[in-house]
Amino acid sequence: MKIYDVIVVGAGIAGCSSAYFLKQRGLDVLVLDRAGVAAMGGSSAAGAFVSPKIGKGSVLQSLTNEAFEFAKKFYIEHFPKYFKQTGVIRIPKDEDDAQKFLQYEEFNSSQREWIDEESLESIGIKKSFDSFLFNEAGVCDAPKLCKAFLEGIEYKQYEVESLVYEDNLWIIGNYRAKKLVLATGYENKFFDMRYMGVKGTWGSRGDYETNLDLDVSMHKQISVSANIDGIIKIGATHEKEVDVCITCNGKPLNSLFSVASTMVDTSDFKLKETFCGMRSGSKDYFPLLGSVISVSEMLEKYPKLPRGQQLKEEPQKMENLYVCNGLGGRGFVFAPMMGKMLADNIVDGKEIDKRLNPDRLFLKWCRKSKDLESYR
Ligand SMILES: Cc1cc2nc3c(=O)[nH]c(=O)nc-3n(C[C@H](O)[C@H](O)[C@H](O)COP(=O)(O)OP(=O)(O)OC[C@H]3O[C@@H](n4cnc5c(N)ncnc54)[C@H](O)[C@@H]3O)c2cc1C
Repeated sequence: MKIYDVIVVGAGIAGCSSAYFLKQRGLDVLVLDRAGVAAMGGSSAAGAFVSPKIGKGSVLQSLTNEAFEFAKKFYIEHFPKYFKQTGVIRIPKDEDDAQKFLQYEEFNSSQREWIDEESLESIGIKKSFDSFLFNEAGVCDAPKLCKAFLEGIEYKQYEVESLVYEDNLWIIGNYRAKKLVLATGYENKFFDMRYMGVKGTWGSRGDYETNLDLDVSMHKQISVSANIDGIIKIGATHEKEVDVCITCNGKPLNSLFSVASTMVDTSDFKLKETFCGMRSGSKDYFPLLGSVISVSEMLEKYPKLPRGQQLKEEPQKMENLYVCNGLGGRGFVFAPMMGKMLADNIVDGKEIDKRLNPDRLFLKWCRKSKDLESYR
């Protein structure tokens, strides 16, 4: 029976990007997904904007913008067909927000220019405030990009029900691999990964046929893409912690559509297709990349951790098990940089950036979480 170097479970942008970089490093990779490539999860619903994060210089902002610079260059160099550099305008939500933009200015290293109300109106954006235009930002074609990542990589449509680690191999049905990467989005049913605090946020998107001449994409409370081949995408994620993905019957789009109508002329928009999906976020909103702590072993060895006991060694890990998850509302920004970091870690043993390593959440979870009340 064939033994792969790595099996990646999940063929959203996180799994596809991980598989791509692992393959680039010469590993034999198999990707499994129950639904297809970017067919059901967050990656199928995403508007897939790739733009920087604005703010006052938080650690998450600088990490996001490092990832943005990486993703932008990577897409242009390797997948130019599936990344359109339309530019993305960040429009303040209201007067208060407009004031904040003035403070954000000094913290934004990404190439940016101010665009005033009048210029916005001249390109078809209705009454708004002075905004940031990120010329280098753009929009991906999510399913095509994910499929392109997997070219030359073995992929099977397969629902993973159980995982077994035996004789140094991961066994999933008839498949075997030395290492396993879980890129399953908001679903985390296989191991105790409660410390990562993965939660879903539900969102929807509508693709509209239109002749509107709109060259640039924009984000206010919601995202409205440029017109690409006669289609404008309108989308947003909002409903927190919904367990099961709400069926997208088109209704949730009514409110998105009315907001979009305050931003651009939607008079000839005709709904072509609706999408919905969950994106997954971690407890502290930073992505999750790296190996997985063996929670049961740790609690057995250190039962006083929930009462504040110090940990004097590295936490015990599950062997050859990795996650690539928690990409939040910026999966298409984070995934390339994370895929590369994961491959560098697996192949060269290069340490995962501490900002992404899920270990950061473990001790806090032990000490604070209600899940471990019985230990206190
Ligand atoms: C409406 C909306 C708009 C968004 N807009 C943007 C945007 O403009 N820009 C941006 O960068 N991001 C955006 N996002 C966020 C982005 O979609 C996510 O960050 C990203 O898709 C997460 O990718 P993922 O691969 O981690 O998860 P997913 O895409 O959810 O992939 C997980 C995959 O795992 C598979 N899976 C799970 N369990 C199993 C199992 N047991 N067996 C087999 N397969 C399994 C699922 O079928 C799924 O395909 C948006 C999200 C939504 C919902």
